[in-house]
Order: sequence, then C-alpha cells, then structure tokens
Amino acid sequence: MSDTETRAETDAETRTFAELGLNSELLQAIDEIGFKDPSPIQEQAIPALLDGLDVIGQAQTGTGKTAAFGLPMLQYLDPASDEVQAIILTPTRELCIQVTQELRSYAEHLDIEIVAVFGGAPIKSQQAQLRAGAHVVVATVGRVKDLISRRSLVLTAARFVVLDEADEMLDLGFIEDVEKIIRMCPSGRQTALFSATMPPPIKRLAETYMYDPVTVKITPKKLTVDSVSQAFVEVAGKQKTDRLIELLKAEEPEQAIMFCRTKIGASRLERDLKNRGMNVKALHGDLSQGTRDGVMIAFKGGRVPLLVATDIAARGLDIEHVTHIINYDIPNSSETYVHRIGRTGRAGRTGRAITFVTPDQRPDLAVIEKEAGTTITAWEAPEDRIEHARPPRRRRRREGNEPAVIAEGEEAPAEESRAEPAATGGRDDRGEPAEATDGATKLFINRGRRSGLTEDDLEWALREGAVLEDSQISAIRVLDRFSFVEVDSDVAEQTVERLDGSRLKDADIRVEVARS
Ligand code: ADP
Ligand code: MG
Repeated sequence: MSDTETRAETDAETRTFAELGLNSELLQAIDEIGFKDPSPIQEQAIPALLDGLDVIGQAQTGTGKTAAFGLPMLQYLDPASDEVQAIILTPTRELCIQVTQELRSYAEHLDIEIVAVFGGAPIKSQQAQLRAGAHVVVATVGRVKDLISRRSLVLTAARFVVLDEADEMLDLGFIEDVEKIIRMCPSGRQTALFSATMPPPIKRLAETYMYDPVTVKITPKKLTVDSVSQAFVEVAGKQKTDRLIELLKAEEPEQAIMFCRTKIGASRLERDLKNRGMNVKALHGDLSQGTRDGVMIAFKGGRVPLLVATDIAARGLDIEHVTHIINYDIPNSSETYVHRIGRTGRAGRTGRAITFVTPDQRPDLAVIEKEAGTTITAWEAPEDRIEHARPPRRRRRREGNEPAVIAEGEEAPAEESRAEPAATGGRDDRGEPAEATDGATKLFINRGRRSGLTEDDLEWALREGAVLEDSQISAIRVLDRFSFVEVDSDVAEQTVERLDGSRLKDADIRVEVARS
C-alpha cells in the first residue's frame, strides 16, 4: 500500500484543477460553482483516480471528498452507454441526497444521468428513473439491495464503486451488505473508499476488496486552529443549561449546533431549551430516519437556528451557515473535538467553538488542547473581545428565519410542519407549538440559486407548469442548491407529476415531496 500523507498546510504549491487532468466540461462547471483551487484531498485523490487506481481517502467532514471522487468518476463515464457505470454507497438518505446534488452540479455540462435511490421514498419512482437510464446511482445500502432483488438495478457494468463515509456505514451495521453489493460489481472495477477514521473492519474491507490502493490522508489540524476561534466555559454540571442560555444570548449565533454525549442528554436539553422559548430541534439516533431528514432540512433551510445533536447523528453532514459549535458535553477525545469543530468555520467564514467543562474536567480539556494542537481560552462576551472586533453581526433575513434566541416571555415561533411526531422524542409533555402550515405539503426541488433559479421562476412553474392558483401556493424558497415550495396538500401530487422531470431555465428539475 503506498501512502501519501498530505498536510492541509501545504497549500503553497497547490495545483489547479486543470493541472490535475480534468476535462473542459468539468473545469467549466467547477468554475461556475466557484471553486478556485482543489482542496488537499482533491489534489491527491483526483490524479490517482484518473489513473485508474483504487484510493482510500481518510479525511474529516468538509474536506471536499465528494468532488475528490466525483470529478474523476464523471470524467470516466461514457454518456453513450446506458448501463449503470458507477455506484456510490452512502450511509444515510440525507447524505445520499447531498452527494447527488453535488454531483449533478459538477455534471452540469455533461450528458450524464445521476439517480438517487434511498429508503423512505416510493420505490416505484426510483425504479422508473432507473428504467429511464442512469449512468450513476447514488444509493443507501438497504434500497440498493431491494432494487437489485427486484431486478431494477443491475451492477454488472458498475466499474466505478465508491464507499462514502465507510466508517459510518460500519456504525450503522451495514458493512456486510456493503460487501454483498461490492461482490455484485465487476471484478475489474475501480474502488474508492472514504472514511474519517479507519477502524479494523474498514481496513479489512479495503484489504479484501481493493486492489493495491493508494491511501490519501489529510490531517485536519489546520481546520480547527485557523478558522475557528475556540473558548471554554467552566460551569458546574447543574448550571449548564442556564449558562448555555446566557451564552446564546450573548453570542447571537446565526446557527449553532450543541453537542451532547448521549441521546437522552440531547433530548433532555432540547426539551429544556424549548421550555425556555427557543426554536430548537434535536438530532440523535433514537429518531427515525424520516424524522432526522425533517430536522436536517429545517436546519439546513435556516428555519431552525439551534440544533442539539449527538456525535453519530451529526456525522458526515456538511452544514452551511453554522456559526457556533457548542460542546455542551465535553467530547470524549481530541478526535471527536476536531470532528465536531470541523462543522463550522467553513469556506472562509469565521466559526466559534465553545466547550463547557465542569471543574473536574479541566484536565480533559488540557489533553484536547495538546492533542489537537490548539489553544482554547476562557470565554469572554463578544463585547469584551476587543481583538475580535468586527462589524455588527449580519443576520440572515431569509423568509421564515428566526433569530436563534428569543427573549423570555416572547412566544416561541411556530414549528416547521412535520409529519413524524417522533421528532419530539414521542413525548407530548412539553407543549409543542402548533404546526405552521396546516393543509400544505412541502415539495423539494433539486435546483436552486446556483442553477440560476429565482422565486419568480418557481412561481411561474407552479402557475403555468403545474396549473396552480395563487391561493394554492403558500411558500416558495430558493436556497443555494435546491428549493422548497409549499402547496395545498390536495394538489401536491399533481404538482410533482407535472413538474418532476421537466426543464426550467435549461436545467432538468426533479420534484418530490419533502417528507411524507
Ligand atoms: P466532505 O464529503 O469531505 O464532508 P464535501 O464534499 O461535502 O466534503 O464538501 C464540503 C463543502 O466544500 C461543500 O459545500 C463543497 O461544495 C465545498 N467544496 C468542495 N471542494 C471545494 C473546493 N475545492 N473549493 C471550495 N469549496 C469546495
Ligand atoms: Mg461527504
């Protein structure tokens, strides 16, 4: 196994995307998306994959792994063949959708069809999309098995195989199924495996199913040190919640994730914050996949500013706009600390990470500082942080976006409409606010601002394409890479039927019900 260790620091001689050997259609898309230089993992993995080598990529979230495998994969595909030539396995439905969106944006100038297949959505429409032709299938494990057994998906020509977030697939217990799926792909395949960590079962998987792989490893140090300001707050266990509320008021995060060590702790903190009038949701392993999707969509869409999460539930997600990470419970290792913090301070934005420690946890904090090679200073209120003086905080003014912190006594904003009652942890003792949009159904559209869509375009599509009246449309929101609309529930199905697969502003659009 050859080993290439790249430090994130060595960006002095970064090659350009063109120098990595990518074709002009891909370079054009990269340029339009706005990527300037390849990230370290891209710089290492792209040439190796273009050379036909198997690659193991070990890097934290947010290092650009999707393009690292996606760009060479797209270059390898033959648009003239109508077989499935590439399969990407992802652990969760959320990641499956995220990867699909990202790949479609890279494939903007190629005649390549990318189909997402995942559980919790009707299998029929996925079967229809596969019948219509897919060069690439992005999938969750369970749904792939299902589609293979129904003979809707054949992998005999899938010579490019990607296992994304392999360690998470392991955590979720999918590894045996992953192996079964790999074995259905041709033996002359090229395999790429991405994983933040390399536990023994993943190493074994790589040894068994990969051919002389190149390992690309990115040390994440730079991520925490440079782009995230880090502080700690010493607080007695019992006072944590009060202190957190004070801190949120002082920091005014646009969006914050608060990490708890346990699922029970996370749902308790969610309840306590809700009781104090905050607009907060929780993401942890006791929730159904559908509920987790709903929470993620609400958080990503900016409608929920505060998210309480456990490490596993929040893993692998690229969450834009997160300004604050709060370690409500101190992470149990420096690796976890880096992992959590890697979620903020992306793309040149300054992030802030605040870690709560009880007096007896001070030594643990010192260990984290040492191992992560970073400095964590005592927290000061923003007005006291002279050295960080900056212009007044800009609050995003998206439709329906609420400030993170609501003064006590004010009413909590109405909750996002959501079908799964399990999102509240199955408890109804905490006075959940009424559903926001009765009788309306939210639809997801796979295009957003990046494809040049505006709210007017979508309004036009709903009125002219789906033949809706103004009164049947309750909301339209265009985000960077996708959009949401809300229409009366009784016309939701017809809207999907009429708009799904149609073209809008030169882009194919896919429309689906955001959640059942
Ligand atoms: P990972 O899979 O490693 O968590 P992603 O592939 O999801 O990372 O990428 C994280 C974010 O960084 C995405 O929003 C992506 O669009 C962006 N990104 C990826 N590559 C680059 C690049 N070379 N320059 C700037 N942004 C990038
Ligand atoms: Mg990823």
